[in-house]
Amino acid sequence: MQELLRQLPSVDEVLKDDRVKAWLGTHPRILVLDAIRLALDRKRKAVIDRSGKGSPDIDLSAAAVLNGAEAILNELSEPSLRPLINATGVVVHTNLGRSILSEAAIERIIEVNRSYSNLEYDIQAGERGKRYTHIEGILNRLTGAEAATAVNNNAAAVLLCLNTLARGKEVIVSRGELVEIGGSFRVPEVMERSGAVLREVGATNKTHLKDYQKAINENTGLLLKVHTSNYKIVGFTKEVSPAELAALGKKHKVPVMWDLGSGSFLDLASYGVGDEPTVKQAMDAGVDILTFSGDKLLGGPQAGMIIGKKQYLDAIRSNPLARALRIDKMTLAALEATLNQYLDEEKAIRAIPTLWMLTQPLSEIGRKADLLAAGIKALGDSKITIAIQDDLSQTGGGALPTGKLPTKVVAISHKSLSANQIESKLRLGRPAIITRIKEGMVLFDPRTLNDGEISKIVEALRNITNS
Ligand SMILES: *Cc1c(COP(=O)(O)O)cnc(C)c1O
Repeated sequence: MQELLRQLPSVDEVLKDDRVKAWLGTHPRILVLDAIRLALDRKRKAVIDRSGKGSPDIDLSAAAVLNGAEAILNELSEPSLRPLINATGVVVHTNLGRSILSEAAIERIIEVNRSYSNLEYDIQAGERGKRYTHIEGILNRLTGAEAATAVNNNAAAVLLCLNTLARGKEVIVSRGELVEIGGSFRVPEVMERSGAVLREVGATNKTHLKDYQKAINENTGLLLKVHTSNYKIVGFTKEVSPAELAALGKKHKVPVMWDLGSGSFLDLASYGVGDEPTVKQAMDAGVDILTFSGDKLLGGPQAGMIIGKKQYLDAIRSNPLARALRIDKMTLAALEATLNQYLDEEKAIRAIPTLWMLTQPLSEIGRKADLLAAGIKALGDSKITIAIQDDLSQTGGGALPTGKLPTKVVAISHKSLSANQIESKLRLGRPAIITRIKEGMVLFDPRTLNDGEISKIVEALRNITNS
């Protein structure tokens, strides 16, 4: 083994190669050096791993090291965060960046960030202003709330509200609503970190108004309702409506907060999508504070909206934690643009990608499925089997708990490549294409695809099946 390791070229030897000199002309020296070191490390590791397992046939030539270094250099030169094609049909896909921003939002981000802005400057008065003024008016107009603000995300919104209104006090929550969302947001844990004391009431499947009533005491800081975003309790169930809870809170002079999770400004149910109340309807229930995400059903940037009674919003905004959880100007620019689009519902449906992907007619999905299937057929590869099948898309992102939408998927299989092989080749290509596998077929759900992406999928399949 030592013998073999000695055969490896040194970094200095590799650096003298003409190929490396060419790389140094186009790549930063630090990346070239790291790529060579990593390539040498890999060879060394391969030798060590193989030792004692018969004669290793590892190519230890300078040329082999250079090939390895070139591949690593290409990888290191690529951005880590990059666009990809989501062919899963899951619209609000948290791992894939949740919402795609509207063109208007993207333009505003670019415009506002290319120069100085009035982020915290009151142009009229010529003095310091507040960053939240840029979205408060429009949020109030769209929701009917008295006051509004936004923080980094909905998890931050919940944390900030609990910390402001219930630090050192009890927060009454139904046992059926102590949910975990996305593996990292657990209501009891956020509650603990906020300094509030959790007071669970009711049973998992049933909570009655009297359960909340009995738990209220002089140390109660808040009544909390949490949207069970990613699951639904069915069968023998009972939950207290937000309106009943709001009335109870009023009677006992305890604020009532509802973590809506997604929060939609449009009545998506009227488009056949879920049965969620709109934010305005939620506000009309009479609760004091509502929180919801900016990048779930709203289709905007990552943010957490807090809306409700002015007295509570004033306290929330002046909590020192608010400074730590504040949104930046890129988010604000995108959020303001997205919110403005909601002033015209017809336009919003078309312009905000999340809304369009959720509400597009099945015939539009069918058209895209036909386009993709025809493109794959035109590759003329007799080994590929193609079928268009009825299936269901998930809304995702804890947007609508049991929300599955009818869709048409293109399902393919290949005589000499397994579904797993096709899936991984698509995923490792440029751009990466993310698909689903079902019953030995690779599925493409056109719900989350546009025509340009469909052409790219066809191209990727051409390369995969030709090689
Ligand atoms: C998604 C969700 C959150 C967390 O929101 P983020 O914007 O992802 O931080 C909190 N509460 C509920 C009910 C949710 O659905």
